[in-house]
Amino acid sequence: MSDQVVTRFAPSPTGFLHIGGARTALFNWLYARKHGGTMLLRIEDTDRERSTTAAIDAIVDGLNWLGLSWNGDVVYQFQRAARHREAVEDLLAKNFAYRCYATPDELEAMREDARREKRPPRYDGRWRDRDASDAPSGVKPVIRLRAPQDGQTQIHDKVQGTVTWANKDLDDLVLLRSDGNPTYMLAVVVDDHDMGVTQIIRGDDHLTNAARQAQIYDAFGWQAPAMAHIPLIHGADGAKLSKRHGALGVDAYRALGYLPDAVRNYLVRLGWSQGDQEFFSTEEMTAAFSLENIGRSPARFDFAKLENLNGHYLRSTPDADLLTALIDTLPYLDGGSALEAKLNPILRAKLLSAMPGLKERSKTLVELLDGAGYLFADRPLPIDPKAAEVLAKGRDHLVALRPFFAALEIWTAATTEAVVREHAEKTGTKLGQVAQPLRAALTGRTTSPGIFDVLEVIGRDESLGRIDDCIAGLT
Ligand code: GLU
Repeated sequence: MSDQVVTRFAPSPTGFLHIGGARTALFNWLYARKHGGTMLLRIEDTDRERSTTAAIDAIVDGLNWLGLSWNGDVVYQFQRAARHREAVEDLLAKNFAYRCYATPDELEAMREDARREKRPPRYDGRWRDRDASDAPSGVKPVIRLRAPQDGQTQIHDKVQGTVTWANKDLDDLVLLRSDGNPTYMLAVVVDDHDMGVTQIIRGDDHLTNAARQAQIYDAFGWQAPAMAHIPLIHGADGAKLSKRHGALGVDAYRALGYLPDAVRNYLVRLGWSQGDQEFFSTEEMTAAFSLENIGRSPARFDFAKLENLNGHYLRSTPDADLLTALIDTLPYLDGGSALEAKLNPILRAKLLSAMPGLKERSKTLVELLDGAGYLFADRPLPIDPKAAEVLAKGRDHLVALRPFFAALEIWTAATTEAVVREHAEKTGTKLGQVAQPLRAALTGRTTSPGIFDVLEVIGRDESLGRIDDCIAGLT
C-alpha cells in the first residue's frame, strides 16, 4: 500500500444530507487535504427500498454547496454487487465462510432464547461445521463469516483509543443474503479495500460495526484502514439531535440564509477544537486539523452560535462577494423570488451601495434580504404598524422637508443630511424626530441603515415619490 492518504465519505442515500453527515464529510475532506491525499465519495445504495435518487441529488448538492469536493467519480455501491459476490466466493473457497440453511423459525427460536436469558441475540453457529450433504433441498442459504470464536478483536481507534471485543460475543455475521445480495458489512469492507481507503472517519454509531469489519478484513487477509469514530452530535440540551435542535438537511441551512463558509467553520468546531480559536479560514482549518484533537464526548449543536458566527462572516465578506452570495441564494430563500424578478443593473448597484449598512444589521441572508426590501418595494410602500405610528405623528416634518429636497441640485447623503439638519435647527426639533418619520416613509420600517445613506441609494425621484405617498395618505 502506498503512503498516499485516501479517505472516503460513504453516505446512505435514504434521506437528505443532514448536519452530522456534513460534518463527517468535512472531517474526511480536511484530513485528506491536510495530508495531500484524496477523498472519495461512495453512495451506499444497497438498500434498494430506501435509497432514492432525490437523496443522492441532495447529498451531491449539499457537498457542492459546502465546497467539499471529492476526487474521481462517485462510486455507487450497488453497482459493485457482482464484485461483492465474487469476494464472498473467495472466502467460501478458503473456508472462511460457510453456507447457512437455518430457517426463519430456527433463527426466531435463537432470538427467543436470548431474550429469555437476557443476553444479546446471537446466531449459534449450527451450520458452521455441517456437511454440505446435510443441506435441505430447495432452500437458498445465506453465507456467513466463519468468525473466530475465541480470543479478542481489537480496534486501535484514533478517537476512541483501543476498543476490545471478546470474540465469543460476536457471532457469525451474514455476508450474502439468500437472494444473493451482499450485506452492508461485507460491501463496506470490499469497497474500502478496493478503493484503497487508508483512513476511515465516521460516526461512532459504527464502532461495533468496526469490530465486525475487522474480522472480515482478517478473513480476506487484507490490512484494515486506520479508524476514527467521531462522537455523534447532540442538541444544545444534551439530548440526541432531532429536527428541533437543527438536525436539518444541509439544504435547509442554505434556505435559512447561512453562508457555506460559516457553516463549515461552525461544523469544524463541532467535536474538534484547537484551543479557543473560533474562526478558521479554510487554509487554517486544513493546517490545524488532526484526529487527535477530536473530543470523546458528543458535541452540542447550538443554533444561536451558528447564527452569530454567520453574522461575523456576513460582516467580513466584501460587499460585492456578499451581493453575489445573496443573488445566488435567492432561489432558495423565502421571498427571494420578489427580488429575483426585479433584479436589473440599477437595482444591483443600489444593493451594492446599501450593502455596508445592510450587513451590519443582519446575521443571515434572510435578514439581509428582508432589510433590503425597501430598495425594491413597489410604491406605495407597505408600512409596518410601528412605522405607521411614527408617520402619524411626524407627517408635518415630511411636508416641510419636501420642497427643500426637491430643490436640491445634487442628491447625496451629505446634501440631504444638510437639509434635514437645517430643518431640525430651524424648528428646534431633535434630529431623530425628523429622521424617524423620514425613515418610516422611505423604508416602511422604524429600523434601517443610516437614513441619509438610504436617501442617497434610493435616489431623488423614488425618495420624493415615497414622501409624497405618505403626505397624500396613500400608505
Ligand atoms: N453508509 C453508512 C451511513 O450512512 C456509513 C458507512 C461507513 O462510513 O462506513 O451511515
